[in-house]
Amino acid sequence: MISRAAARHYRPAQCLLTQSLSATRLGRRGLATVSHSAPPEPLLAPNAETHSHVPSFVPTQHFIKGRFVPSLDGNRTFPAYNPTDGTQITVVSEASAADVDAAVAAARLAQPFWESLPAGVRGAALQELSFIIHDNAPALAAIESLDSGKPVHDVRAELQQVQHVLRYYSGWADKMGGQTIQFEQDIHSYTRLEAIGVIGQIVPWNYPLSLAVWKMAPAIAMGNTVVLKTSEKTPLSMLYLCELARQTSIPKGVLNVVSGGAEAGMAIARHMDIDKVSFTGSTAVGRKIMAMAAESNLKKVSLELGGKGANIVFADAELEEALEHCFEGAFSNNGQNCCAGSRILVQSSVYDEFVNALKEMVRETEFTSQRSEYLSSCSCASNTQMDEEVIVGDPRDLDTTHGPLIDSDHLASVRQYIDAGERSGGTLYGGITPPGLNPRGAFITPALFTDLPATHPIATEEIFGPVACVIPFDTQEEAIELANASQYALAAGVHTRDLSTAIMMEKSLNAGLVWINTYNRTPPHMPFGGRKSSGMGKELGEMGIKEYTGELRLVGARALAAFRPGRGGGGGKKWC
Ligand code: NAD
Repeated sequence: MISRAAARHYRPAQCLLTQSLSATRLGRRGLATVSHSAPPEPLLAPNAETHSHVPSFVPTQHFIKGRFVPSLDGNRTFPAYNPTDGTQITVVSEASAADVDAAVAAARLAQPFWESLPAGVRGAALQELSFIIHDNAPALAAIESLDSGKPVHDVRAELQQVQHVLRYYSGWADKMGGQTIQFEQDIHSYTRLEAIGVIGQIVPWNYPLSLAVWKMAPAIAMGNTVVLKTSEKTPLSMLYLCELARQTSIPKGVLNVVSGGAEAGMAIARHMDIDKVSFTGSTAVGRKIMAMAAESNLKKVSLELGGKGANIVFADAELEEALEHCFEGAFSNNGQNCCAGSRILVQSSVYDEFVNALKEMVRETEFTSQRSEYLSSCSCASNTQMDEEVIVGDPRDLDTTHGPLIDSDHLASVRQYIDAGERSGGTLYGGITPPGLNPRGAFITPALFTDLPATHPIATEEIFGPVACVIPFDTQEEAIELANASQYALAAGVHTRDLSTAIMMEKSLNAGLVWINTYNRTPPHMPFGGRKSSGMGKELGEMGIKEYTGELRLVGARALAAFRPGRGGGGGKKWC
């Protein structure tokens, strides 16, 4: 059962929204009334008992108009698997175009009312959601860990960011204004920001909750309504978040979530009544999304796509810190990260020293097959990692830093890259199957290559797994050339103590994000997005919410001469 303890935090927001609802047609029709009566259907999880925080009920159906509903097309379903042992967790409703139509209709109906609410009320509703997520973080983390194989420790950290993003955009809701433009004495002009309308959002599996909230929070804050499709590999956590959203004052139809794969994604991208599609996923699918948007109703498009980050270490860097950032940058989330700094460029004079230390980190990876005690009370804020070691193991174990990859197919693709690297004469460290873990789980240890040319597929293609290569360079110019020699341009890192080098590199690197003396930081305030084949548009920050505002509407009004202020008569009240 979901905690109601958050109520004390968000009562004021509910009151505000209730007042607004009661004064509107939509409110009188009861569309915004939250029903707590119908429980979600049970999660059929054979191993749920072992995930002590997995709630006994987790929704598995689409969330449309505030209700969990089965697929219209013969109740179609698909299986959800646990990557730790390959077992089936449950079956989940699979959306066809008809389900997407139903979700879009609900979103379209709710949108004008939602946009008409005072902006602060919309913001307050998002804040409510952040509070209720806080109170239910252990359950959400357990579901996510079960479904994605992420260490429960990592998911809790991710959930903190999710709450932060919701609160960040709740604050922006009532601060998005237009401009007054007075370019001539007798012409008064102003711009006004509007919501776009119904937004289709498609997300991948590597950060299922964060990436969904990065998209839905600014969209909803601006007065849009949303039809979001999760990845077929990780549908469960977002459905549980919908169950939490049902308990807030977010009206029915504002947030709609469908589960499924390419068919549902294509239905969103091609939909004639969706005003914008925001996609995060592979570059190959991103290209198709853009074509489908163009061929249907020319809906707006933003794309967050693949990457192949270069993490550049100069000889004058604080090497110990750079080492941590390079290791984490390449291997956190098992390298299943669009920003993964999987090309580590190291200046020749410190190459041997640096690479030896990196090799040690890879070699020291430990494996754990036994499960240590769960923290019985696991609020996000209270848990800390036991130590700094790299431990590949059961994601439920709080010591584990690296769980399995998302599934065995993905593991096979990662192994193919490793095999290719070895066949080409690269020297491999790590990249082994950890002993003692379930052989049906998609486990592999971090893999580091040296002695490969910068043109090798390991150095140029997005592997999206824990495989990195180290490449030496001599001069700054060479580092820039190597780093920019990629079809991708999402993220890069520079490690140096020299301010001039840092600024010169930042200006010369062709990447949407450049981190200096750090890596992989994505605070809600900082816009995030790529260039070239890494996409277009921004998430997070002020730019992130502007992605969900309609065109600036420019209104120009010219004062009649007779009524111009200071030119006699009329008091300046009448405009044409
Ligand atoms: P993917 O492109 O295979 O799938 C992404 C989403 O698109 C999923 O929901 C999937 O069901 C859907 N989809 C698949 N085919 C589709 C089609 N033809 N039409 C419409 N929708 C379709 O990507 P993935 O394997 O889920 O995720 C990994 C990729 O995502 C990597 O390339 C990674 O770099 C990228 N990614 C980018 C960012 C970013 O912010 N730039 C963040 C995370 C992941």
